Amino acid sequence: MGNLIDGKAIAEKIKEEVKKEITELKAKNIIPKLIAVQAGENPASVLYTNQQKKNCEKIGIVYELKNLPADIKEEQLISEITALNMDKSVTGIIMQLPLPKGMDVKNIQVSILPEKDIEGVSPVNMGWIIYGRPYLAPCTALAVKEVINSTGVDLYGKNVTMVGHSDIVGKPVALLLVDKLATVSICHIGTSEAGMLEEYVRRADILIVAVGKANVIPGGWVKEGAIVVDVGINRVGDKIVGDVEFETAKERASFITPVPGGVGPVTTAILLRNVVRAAKWKKRQ
Ligand code: NAD
Repeated sequence: MGNLIDGKAIAEKIKEEVKKEITELKAKNIIPKLIAVQAGENPASVLYTNQQKKNCEKIGIVYELKNLPADIKEEQLISEITALNMDKSVTGIIMQLPLPKGMDVKNIQVSILPEKDIEGVSPVNMGWIIYGRPYLAPCTALAVKEVINSTGVDLYGKNVTMVGHSDIVGKPVALLLVDKLATVSICHIGTSEAGMLEEYVRRADILIVAVGKANVIPGGWVKEGAIVVDVGINRVGDKIVGDVEFETAKERASFITPVPGGVGPVTTAILLRNVVRAAKWKKRQ
C-alpha cells in the first residue's frame, strides 16, 4: 500500500521558511503587502478571501481586499490594476476569479506587472519557466513539484504523465519536470477521446492528474509503484474527492496524495512564498 503524502506537513515547512524570510525583509524595511482585487462577489469568494487574509496575516504579510463592482468594465479594471502596479507600497497583486461575465482573463493577467504577479500567470513569468529559470511560477505547478520532491524520487529518465493541460497546472508542470530530464507526456480530453489515456497512465512512473472530474482515472490503471499526484478537487455529495479513484490507486502506488490534504495546502503555502519572492524581486537577467 502506498505512502500518503502529507501536504499539510510540506506546507508547514514552507511556511516556516517564509516566516523567516519575512523577518529578514522587515529588518530591511521591506513590508510584503498583497492586494486582492475582487470584481463582484459571491459567498464562495468571500470565504476564499477571508481565508487568504487569515493566512497572510498569520505569517506577517499585509493583506488588503479591493472590492470593485460586478458591472465594472474591462478598461476600468485594468486602470485599477495599473494604479496598483505604480503604488510602491504594494508588492503583490492577486486577481480573484471568476471575473465578471464577458471579461477576458488574459487581458487582465497581462496587465499585472510581472514583479507583482504572485500567481505567476503573466506571460513574462510563464516565459521564465521556458527559459529554465522559474521564479514566480503558477502556485499549483510549483506545489506539484514540491510534492514530487518530497518523495525523494530522481526524475531523470522517468516517465511522467500529466493529465490536464491548463495554463496554471498541466503546461507549467510539464515544463518544470522536463527540465529535470523526465520524459513527459501531456494528456487531455483529446487523448481520452482518442482512446489513448489508459495507455499513457499505465506507463507513468509519476502520474499527475488535474482534470476536475471525480474518478476520471480508474485506480487499476496506476502502474505498480508509481507516484500519484492528484490535483483535482471535486464535490461529490458532501465529500471532496480528487480525480483518481483513490482506494484502488493507493494499493498500487508507492506514494499518493490524498484529497483533501495533498496538493491543496502546499499550493496555499507556495502562494505565500510567491508573495515574499515578489517583494524580493530584483531585475532578472
Ligand atoms: P482546466 O479545468 O482548465 O482543464 C481541465 C483539463 O482536463 C483540460 O486539459 C482538459 O482537456 C482535461 N480533460 C477534461 N476531461 C478529460 C478527460 N475525460 N480525460 C482526460 N483529460 C480531460 O484545469 P485546471 O484549472 O488545471 O483544474 C483541474 C482541476 O484541478 C480542477 O478540479 C481544479 O479545481 C483543480 N485545481 C486544484 C488546485 C489545488 O491547489 N489543489 C489548483 C488549481 C486547480
